[in-house]
Amino acid sequence: MHSEASKLPDSQTEQENIDAAVMWQSVYDTLSRSIPANFFNIFFDSVKAKKYDGKQLLLSADNDKIVDHLRNRYLDKIEEAASHTAGKSVKIALLHEPGQAEPASESSAVAAPSDLDKITINPKYTFDRFIRGPSNEHAYAAALGAAENPSDYHNPLYIYGNVGVGKTHLMMAIANRLIANKPSYRVKYSPAETFQNELYDAIARKSVNSLKARYRNVDVLLFDDIQFIAERANYIQEEIFHLFNFLYQQKKQIVISGDRPPQQLATLHDRLQSRFQSGLIVDIKAPNFETRLAILQRKASEMNLSVPMEVHKYLAARFTQHVRILEAALIKLQFTSQLEKHPIDLQMTKIALRDMPSESNGQQVSIDEILRVVSRTFHVNEDEIKGSSRVENIVLARHACMYLAKNLIPTMSLKGIAEAFGKTDHTTVMHAEKKMIELMDKDNSLRVQMEELSNELKF
Ligand code: ADP
Ligand code: MG
Repeated sequence: MHSEASKLPDSQTEQENIDAAVMWQSVYDTLSRSIPANFFNIFFDSVKAKKYDGKQLLLSADNDKIVDHLRNRYLDKIEEAASHTAGKSVKIALLHEPGQAEPASESSAVAAPSDLDKITINPKYTFDRFIRGPSNEHAYAAALGAAENPSDYHNPLYIYGNVGVGKTHLMMAIANRLIANKPSYRVKYSPAETFQNELYDAIARKSVNSLKARYRNVDVLLFDDIQFIAERANYIQEEIFHLFNFLYQQKKQIVISGDRPPQQLATLHDRLQSRFQSGLIVDIKAPNFETRLAILQRKASEMNLSVPMEVHKYLAARFTQHVRILEAALIKLQFTSQLEKHPIDLQMTKIALRDMPSESNGQQVSIDEILRVVSRTFHVNEDEIKGSSRVENIVLARHACMYLAKNLIPTMSLKGIAEAFGKTDHTTVMHAEKKMIELMDKDNSLRVQMEELSNELKF
């Protein structure tokens, strides 16, 4: 019976804790969409919501630098997001609350990275926790190569991809691996924007030389989100060029991330571009459906969260671009389930995530995508599907493609669909659809498979 009692928020404090957590969750979601991911991770992941009494939200973090930074830079934004959620003005109070001692200088006394260097590396971002799939395995392998063999790897290593696909995770995985395996190595993780701010600061304080010395005195430099720099002043780019050149000549590993390939950073100086071209360039794409599923399952198990498979599939189908949103969805479900004291199910999921943006909203399904998923699911080459083979499983895959195209691309004519698959006559598509319906009536597992494909494509 004590379990009954302990489930209810029986004191006002407990209710305030829950309210604070829910409020913070909403603020967190909102801000995660407007603050660059690497900053967001560093400064917001360690914040705890302590109390919300309807007027004030009390937050704490255990690192005083983080608290200072949040106060100076983000207080307005946090207040704005909280007020928006509450529908009235909410004030924010920020508390520095030292937690467990930070791993102090013992192990790294020689390397002595600055305090700020330490807080920037999130220990959770490891290779082990990175789920691999076709979208990211090259980048994973390259990052691992740089981490295992930092003085003798492709240099620089340039990793690019859209926001939220795991670039920062991989960079920090390099740092974490090196901290574990080569503790004497000096590893510096630096978001480009931080570098820029430090440089401006140093100019103001007339301490540019000591800043340069600090950056040159590293064995591995992890330079995140270079696209922020590409738009900036010549002076910054000059300094970066000299820094990279220096490290390169000393055979120090440089890893850079950006949101697009170097040649597309239009305002980036040629000298920097050609420096990048001479190294290794790898990309990370948005994870495919299977990888999204695997990521969700892993994250849910890390959170100790029990999530039915149909919910995982729903999430993987609905959120297609950013891994961060998948995480945010799980966190939201966790809170909802705690609040409602009900296990997570599909219905709860749909309601709880009603307001989250569906990432593929309005996007037209394309023939290419249909080909890709059908080819993958039916284990038939795309070329075979478009060809004229009469082998049974190839014909089935071809019919499945036409069926999906007819049902998911309303703007396409039957003739257009037929032509997309190398046929001339629009009745081919009608025939294919009829055939698929017959088969699905007979074979329920085929029907389920087609429904899943169509969900995957639709979102
Ligand atoms: P980016 O730097 O490309 O914007 P992040 O590295 O910040 O993206 O990733 C966003 C979030 O998604 C992080 O919490 C990260 O751990 C997670 N994530 C991204 N890709 C993967 C993956 N393949 N496996 C596990 N987690 C991932
Ligand atoms: Mg990032």
